[in-house]
Amino acid sequence: MGSWRIKLFDVVVIGGGHAGIEASWVSANQELSVCLITLDLNRIGAMSCNPAIGGQGKGQLVKELDVLGGLMPRIADETGIQFRKLNTKKGPAVWSSRSQTDKEKYSQEITSEITGHPNIEIVSGEVCNVEWLSSGKYKITLKTGQVLNSRSTILTVGTFLNGLMHVGTQKMEGGRHGDSAAKQLSKSMQDNFGIRWKRFKTGTPPRLERDSIKWSLLKEQRGDEPPCPFSLWSAGIENKINCYLTYTNQPIHQLIEENIDLAPLYNGQITSQGPRYCPSIEDKVMRFKGRERHQIFLEPESLETSVIYVNGLSTSLPADVQEAVVHKINGLENAQFLRHGYAVEYDCIDPRILDVGLQHLKYPGLFFAGQINGTSGYEEAAVQGLVAGLSAACFVKSLPTPKFDRAQSYIGVLLDDLVHKGSEEPYRMFTSRCEYRMSIREDNAIERLLPLSEQYKLLPTEKLKFCRSIIESKSKLMKGIESVFLETSKGKTNLVKAIRRNEFSMDEMFHVEQHEHFRAIVNEVGHRGYLKENLFIELKYEGYLAKERKTIVWMNKEGKRQIPAQTSFHNIPGLSNEARDRLTLAQPHTLSDVRKLFGVTPADELALLRYLEKRRGSEKPQNSNFS
Ligand SMILES: Cc1cc2nc3c(=O)[nH]c(=O)nc-3n(C[C@H](O)[C@H](O)[C@H](O)COP(=O)(O)OP(=O)(O)OC[C@H]3O[C@@H](n4cnc5c(N)ncnc54)[C@H](O)[C@@H]3O)c2cc1C
Repeated sequence: MGSWRIKLFDVVVIGGGHAGIEASWVSANQELSVCLITLDLNRIGAMSCNPAIGGQGKGQLVKELDVLGGLMPRIADETGIQFRKLNTKKGPAVWSSRSQTDKEKYSQEITSEITGHPNIEIVSGEVCNVEWLSSGKYKITLKTGQVLNSRSTILTVGTFLNGLMHVGTQKMEGGRHGDSAAKQLSKSMQDNFGIRWKRFKTGTPPRLERDSIKWSLLKEQRGDEPPCPFSLWSAGIENKINCYLTYTNQPIHQLIEENIDLAPLYNGQITSQGPRYCPSIEDKVMRFKGRERHQIFLEPESLETSVIYVNGLSTSLPADVQEAVVHKINGLENAQFLRHGYAVEYDCIDPRILDVGLQHLKYPGLFFAGQINGTSGYEEAAVQGLVAGLSAACFVKSLPTPKFDRAQSYIGVLLDDLVHKGSEEPYRMFTSRCEYRMSIREDNAIERLLPLSEQYKLLPTEKLKFCRSIIESKSKLMKGIESVFLETSKGKTNLVKAIRRNEFSMDEMFHVEQHEHFRAIVNEVGHRGYLKENLFIELKYEGYLAKERKTIVWMNKEGKRQIPAQTSFHNIPGLSNEARDRLTLAQPHTLSDVRKLFGVTPADELALLRYLEKRRGSEKPQNSNFS
């Protein structure tokens, strides 16, 4: 044993999922030596559940990741097979990009990026022990007996710690279908770092054989034309498939109700907390009894396989009940099962033991990211991986931890929520979690995050320059647009006013041929394609944006505001019922205390602040736009 030296890495990342990939990538790009240890080299970047990246609130995270040099946006574009922007019938605050992804290719491409990085060494195996040595370094031991040392360690082990899968009454140990569970690491983390584990649960729907589905009976869902990529540097993306929509029906709901005692979620077999906002079909049927039907989307998982993902039908009912349910769905009468749906329970931490860089509050150099922090979703995991990887790099280089403000990014919202409020159920991102969502949009991710990207050189110089040039073009175009006056039927008017009065659409904005000066600017300035949406939204909604900017300043200032003892929270208008209960229980003394409470949103905080303001008799600020 004495003959081989233990290798020392700057950063050891445990787990090759979405968090582990971004953590390894960003720290390796900071010129550090990185070791990525994962159970199975063939499953790096595997998509455990849905074959899609982005979606409501998640698309925003992916766009932010793009400016910060993450891998997910580029690979999602390269392997995307259908692209859509969601919520475009609503206001721009909630527009979110989503791509249907070829999950086989996604994993292959991301593996090739990671294995090709000169600063990343990949080790296959199960980590069973992590220790903090008196030297301040970490000792990581694999099941094989192999030992590594590191200056910093990042745990990104997903749903694998003591993973237990359920299909009806059947229980199997495993982190996800086809993968074994990690059975020793939880105990080691508990003994060596005092980690107290919680149990969460998530679930996945059945997978069906493409050729057994009656596609002609179903409603087609096409991608957007032209498709919009996540990454600023992606070209030539195209829609390659359609998805299809069908529905559950009353006989199905009845069947589920009749068999509810066989559902692990309802018969006491699963007691851990699942995601409230991503419920199983049995949950939907039992919780929303008045609903006639629920949507089911049929999504191809890959161009290379015939596997169809049944989005909306996550379940852990027994296999025969799942089959009976599916066969009652229009178009799926003869559907052949490739895999049944299942639920998985796993260990995760209370993220309030972490700081905003996802570092343990007591153990310098020990970081946690992804599902282990009580979140759910690839995008949530990926951005945490980036934060933990960058923070670990800063720790190793003795630089201050990077700060992500919740008034500046969805990443900031996620971090702030996690480390201050914790997660009482698998946390997933929604636009509604972001109180400043009018100001924090996909289209302005560059402006919001370029300074941080420049500070830490998260992108190569050429790409940073490109982003900077987009911002410069924007200010020229903005000035140009403001100087355009037009003759309309109502007389001479300014283009900005015409946009606000809905007389010009986003596409028409740059086609104001009559105005020579503006035409010259438009021709000279590049990036019109990138800036079209951004300029249009900022011109059209300037009034709302200005109000929100004032609110941000006001809310930041008011943290120390005292809340009088015996305040009756149940009588305060605008608070949610959950917030009323939680505030009554906690009796906070200041607004800062309120911010730390789980279940009390920033919108509740604003309602409380308005109430305190009114009670004090001072003038009500003219700056709130939450309603
Ligand atoms: C059944 C199921 C259903 C899901 N449903 C949804 C859903 O509906 N919507 C949604 O958004 N998300 C869903 N998810 C969650 C999504 O898969 C995760 O949020 C995401 O993959 C988390 O990324 P991660 O990097 O934290 O972990 P993972 O992607 O799970 O990666 C964990 C990695 O850690 C490695 N690992 C674990 N333990 C060890 C060890 N001891 N030593 C070495 N390596 C180890 C594994 O090999 C793996 O590479 C589901 C997951 C599962 C399993």
